[in-house]
Amino acid sequence: MEGNMRALVKHHAGFGAELREVPIPAVGPGEVLVKVQATTICGTDVHIYTWDEWAASRVQTPMVFGHEFSGIVVERGAGVSHLQVGDHVSAETHIVCGHCPQCRRGEAHVCANTKIIGVDTQGCFAEYAVMPAENLWKNDPELPPEMASAMEPLGNAVHTALSGPIAGRSVAVIGCGPIGVMAVAVAKASGASAVIAFDINEYRLQLAKTMGATHLVNSREEDPVAEAKKLTGGEGVDVVLEMSGNAVAIKQGFSMLTYGGRISMLGLPTQPIELDITNDIVFKGAQVHGIVGRRMYQTWQQTAGFLNSGQVDLAPMITHRFSLEDYAQGFEQMVSGHSGKVVLYP
Ligand SMILES: [Zn+2]
Ligand SMILES: [Zn+2]
Repeated sequence: MEGNMRALVKHHAGFGAELREVPIPAVGPGEVLVKVQATTICGTDVHIYTWDEWAASRVQTPMVFGHEFSGIVVERGAGVSHLQVGDHVSAETHIVCGHCPQCRRGEAHVCANTKIIGVDTQGCFAEYAVMPAENLWKNDPELPPEMASAMEPLGNAVHTALSGPIAGRSVAVIGCGPIGVMAVAVAKASGASAVIAFDINEYRLQLAKTMGATHLVNSREEDPVAEAKKLTGGEGVDVVLEMSGNAVAIKQGFSMLTYGGRISMLGLPTQPIELDITNDIVFKGAQVHGIVGRRMYQTWQQTAGFLNSGQVDLAPMITHRFSLEDYAQGFEQMVSGHSGKVVLYP
């Protein structure tokens, strides 16, 4: 498609971004052009917007950023046959190589050659985005665009929660940012006997409650390990979903885990941290799962199942909506910690 489009460009190696007119990207073989209907802001985008150390070390400017979106296919490149113009789609944001040992054995989520949309390649905070066709997930056209956009982070929550059994078990969700809150909903929908949400932010705890948490613990006001033990008859929780990346909270997560329990870790500490491996992992027989991305494409099937059946309803946690022009307000809202998912409509 010829012409220009509005796009949010990370224009320099510093704070902020700029809304610009840029050419609509050309569609290559195996790719499709998507007219973007909704995008959602991820924590990663906030790192890029505010330009922290990680962003400075990884991102090349100028670049259109953003990776969570939904839209409609408007053009197909050569060799694309499984998608039609008019299809409603979301995107798996990890572009994988397809030929490394991990990809070849069906573990593409840990492909060492992964490129991330909007970090390593042109992103979606724009009117149009070009994507590899094989990264697109076809949606029910009835699914609201902002929910379809949030399928990607919901997939992180699904992958983390369902990396082991949940039904009938007590679950601790540590860290109630958007993915943590989604994990609360997934654990509840999957039959957890209790879903205990931990955070130090009261707004986020209330959001976790709305999304199905059975107990809330403000870790600044109460001892999280003592509370977890109290709520599980002294045993400790069966499953810990670690979403905070906070060193203190991670240690508390290991301490509150029951013998033989499972801790699935998605949160990213910025520094190496000390753990009591002897007592908290080895003698406990703990299962420790590192979770990255979404399994391709089992996680997407599960995620679509939760959304389409209504077992997980994201509506209460989509708290703010702005047009792409008002991106600065969207990012401010994200930084404030007083938001669930923030949507930008191009
Ligand atoms: Zn993201
Ligand atoms: Zn690979």
